[in-house]
Amino acid sequence: MFTRVKSAVASFMGGIMAVSSINNSDRSGGSDLPLKYPYMRPKFLGLSPDEIECSADHIARPILILKETRRLPWATGYAEVINAGKSALNEDQACCEVLLVKKKPIGSLTPRKTSTSRRRSSLPNSVGMGMWENDACICPQDSQEGLIFHYWALFDGHAGSGAAVMASKLLHQHIVEQLQGVLEVLSNLASLPPTVLGDEPNHQSSPCTHRTLNRAASLHGATGAPGSPCTPPTRFFVEKKIYHESLVIGALENAFKIMDAQIEREKSIYNISGGCTVLVVVFLLGKLYVGNAGDSRAIIIRNGEIIPMSTEFTPESERQRLQFLGFMQPHLLGGEFTHLEFPRRVQRKEVGKKMLYRDFTMTGWAYKTIEDEDLRFPLIYGEGKKARVMATIGVTRGLGDHDLKVHDSNIYIKPFLCCFPEVKVYNLTQYVHEADDVLVMGTDGLWDVLSNEEVAETVTSFLANCDPDDLNRYTMAAQDLVMRARGVLRNQGWRIDNDRLGSGDDISVYIIPLMFGNRQP
Ligand code: MG
Repeated sequence: MFTRVKSAVASFMGGIMAVSSINNSDRSGGSDLPLKYPYMRPKFLGLSPDEIECSADHIARPILILKETRRLPWATGYAEVINAGKSALNEDQACCEVLLVKKKPIGSLTPRKTSTSRRRSSLPNSVGMGMWENDACICPQDSQEGLIFHYWALFDGHAGSGAAVMASKLLHQHIVEQLQGVLEVLSNLASLPPTVLGDEPNHQSSPCTHRTLNRAASLHGATGAPGSPCTPPTRFFVEKKIYHESLVIGALENAFKIMDAQIEREKSIYNISGGCTVLVVVFLLGKLYVGNAGDSRAIIIRNGEIIPMSTEFTPESERQRLQFLGFMQPHLLGGEFTHLEFPRRVQRKEVGKKMLYRDFTMTGWAYKTIEDEDLRFPLIYGEGKKARVMATIGVTRGLGDHDLKVHDSNIYIKPFLCCFPEVKVYNLTQYVHEADDVLVMGTDGLWDVLSNEEVAETVTSFLANCDPDDLNRYTMAAQDLVMRARGVLRNQGWRIDNDRLGSGDDISVYIIPLMFGNRQP
């Protein structure tokens, strides 16, 4: 086993691939199975098959942006570039939609199996839309039909593009279905004055009753009013206050879980390769919900200030969760790994001696006497971008990867790699945003080579030199940002500022202007 692990470690130490020890059968996702979700580029780019083929040129590495005839909601900017040969195709995927959560027919208390979502538009200027004016949605958010929300998403695939392509096509549908389950409560919130839509949950103060669910609303389909015969005596049923915001967060969390289960289910009958990280932004009822499962990142740049809106999930950032899982379910380690962390690999001659270690309960280090089982390979090994879970994968949240195993073993990675996102909330109604206030979403190919400060400086200075009335400025800013991270080809490699190496990964970027969120009626 140690030889197998050494082999796996050696294979990733020299490269930058997120997953480098996956065998060929995993890469193909089962080559004998039909391909339900073929490789593509984001639908909103509107590329022809020839253009898609040209976009995969690893020598030229062309930066793709929106065509002049196309525009995303809020005049969002988007740009992407393929890696420098890391994988044959661009494994990043993207999706952007304006969606309607449709009301269920009166009297229907159980969710219908058929899709109740209706895509409002993929592009605001598409034929027949007529619902956009100066890039602000002119439909009420609590229309007769239901609730409208905006959706931006980035998927960073590894070991193939299958899971990323599938999730880019379907995740928003699961979000719609989950939101429909709480639509009645959210619609009530939408009818309240704007001043009560924001700023919860502030745990420093007591929640106002009109911002939380009442007793009847917390039971799906309940119709009893307080004091009615079906209302239980309160002394027996003390109920938690649940914020409306938490319902949207819960809808996102469940949508990720259902998406992951669907990948697992369909993987047995279709060719769906690899896994993917996910970063989504949902704008609903005046708030931005940023859900992240993986190592992509979102930041808000507001009046020059940087506000982080996501946290990367890596073997290092999730050490304690991973160690706790290994401690509670040691069979997942296959008798080959130790959940304990040591500053370096333990050698046999050190058995009986004392060495520093960390367990899941610890953030600091302490001494322990080395035992035979401490000689096992560490659950988490390596530092920074080279840190891996069981010498296999460098991210700890994402979708797919259900058949991913430790090299040449029957030890599955999946329980350690989980699909649940962390969701952060930003209340757009609390601030008046200017034209240069933006949310930047990027896959790790961007953040590997540019810091938050460098990204903010690049975007801010570019926008400052644009015509503020030019709605293409965000697309041009995204193109400039991707170019800064990719670099230019010189000295036998892609170089960025200060002769640093440019990103060798796929890079995908959204630049979302926030001022349009304030224009919602
Ligand atoms: Mg990447």
